[in-house]
Amino acid sequence: MEQFLYVLEVTRPAMLTDGPTEAEQAALAEHAAYLQERSDEGTLVLAGRSQSNGPETRGIAIFFAEDEAAAKAIMDADPAVTNHVMTASLYPYRVAFGNAKALDWTLSEGELRSNSDEPRPPGPGDNTPPHLCAEMQRALDDPQSPVGYSPQFREYWVRMRYSDATDAIRHCPWCGASLPSSLAEQWFERLRALDLEPEDPKPAELESDEWWRRPAESLPQ
Ligand SMILES: [Zn+2]
Repeated sequence: MEQFLYVLEVTRPAMLTDGPTEAEQAALAEHAAYLQERSDEGTLVLAGRSQSNGPETRGIAIFFAEDEAAAKAIMDADPAVTNHVMTASLYPYRVAFGNAKALDWTLSEGELRSNSDEPRPPGPGDNTPPHLCAEMQRALDDPQSPVGYSPQFREYWVRMRYSDATDAIRHCPWCGASLPSSLAEQWFERLRALDLEPEDPKPAELESDEWWRRPAESLPQ
């Protein structure tokens, strides 16, 4: 495997200042889902964008591919490119310095996902769902929706029609984005470690997403 970098530039700079059209918005959601998939399959090292909104704004993706032709195919298949919302240029690349811990921390703080119009990255205890496209937002706001999210388990679920049972889901039913794996098992393990039953009063951090969003070293053992 070799390493490559592609640099993205928006086709219509007004998209950044005046906001995306509906078509652009859809392409950006697909672009985010595409990068999430590359990340989940382990070929993406990192991706993000500069936080300016001028014509100098760039996005980058560093990733692995078999060779330059394969790398170009990956870049050309990015929905931002296929939908002509961005142009991309490819460079053979090699990461020379890095800090895996800092990258982990940055990702867990949600700062690499700040393409959306979230006012700030999700913080421990505020129960912000890790994935929230417009359709998912609508579902989570609707008490009748069979799809829901349990922040303490980091679990997206669908409610079965003929029982009250729920099943964890791994992809957004609307935009197809990968959803994080459920932490329900780890949650119950923590409870057992504290000698508590699910109906017992629990430490506040286990009632919300605080326990898994907080950096590991500050969690009580
Ligand atoms: Zn979605």
